[in-house]
Amino acid sequence: MTGRPTETSDYTAGFRLYVKVDMEGVSGVVSPDQLHPGSPEYADARGLLMHDLGAVLDGAFDGGCTEAVIYDAHGEGRNVDPGLLDRRAVVISGRPPPSADFICGLDASFGAMFLVGFHARAGMADALLPHTCDGIEAISINGTTVGEIGLEAALAGTFGVPLALVSGDSGCVAEARALLGDDLETVEVKRAISTTSAVCLSTARTGLLLHEAAARAVRGAPALAPVVFQAPARFEVVFSTAQAADAMERRPSVERTGPSSVCTSGPDVVAAYRDFVLAHQECRATEDETSSDFIDRRLIDGIIGGCEQHEPD
Ligand SMILES: [Zn+2]
Repeated sequence: MTGRPTETSDYTAGFRLYVKVDMEGVSGVVSPDQLHPGSPEYADARGLLMHDLGAVLDGAFDGGCTEAVIYDAHGEGRNVDPGLLDRRAVVISGRPPPSADFICGLDASFGAMFLVGFHARAGMADALLPHTCDGIEAISINGTTVGEIGLEAALAGTFGVPLALVSGDSGCVAEARALLGDDLETVEVKRAISTTSAVCLSTARTGLLLHEAAARAVRGAPALAPVVFQAPARFEVVFSTAQAADAMERRPSVERTGPSSVCTSGPDVVAAYRDFVLAHQECRATEDETSSDFIDRRLIDGIIGGCEQHEPD
């Protein structure tokens, strides 16, 4: 899982940070009941997400970051409140971007990736709200079992972008450190007691920890090695049901590898993952959604370029 990146970061004028935000791992969240818009508790949980994200961004900008692109990864992608964001940040919100937005604006221009509010993979012991995507039991890349943390690290690593910070519960942090080692900045905002209970730190405390870790992570990012899997990359998925694998098997890019598992492969993880996502999307294409490929980088650059202008005097 080690090796040289296939591309190197091309940012020159500043430090661009890519932040993927989930919600299960933010301060104080312990139950799925807090995570659905419409639930009476959702507004509070959204406030907790904005607390953690705000602390991370403040720390990152203190550490030398000059602009941040946030991808709202939870649910329908409408959790991050732009009204509470630093002016140097933009957020990619909503669905669409459809599920083919799997790279989500990420490319080689970023100095680091952060994962905020994340969770351990399906089946991890001593973890709060562990799961891997939706309807998936397990993912492996070149035989290494990964959850969403490992998957994101591998996608970013394909672009030469290192994963520099992960925040979440104790199970999430343990998984991240096992995969990426001690150079990774991690913030444990709560200690799992069971899958739906935890000892939660105060937001006063987690805000401080997240702020400090984010500043250190930006400063340390240039020395971090991206996660790079050797070519060719094999992306294997075990679904929760055999029916899901049955449907996927009919796609030409997909190999059936077991009763409920399939595999795609490609020259790198992004290519293998793209084939998986596109096939999976076709299988679910009863909804007639416009399919699109990677988010055009110019969409983000065109809007983020103006974030420093029109400063108040
Ligand atoms: Zn989530």
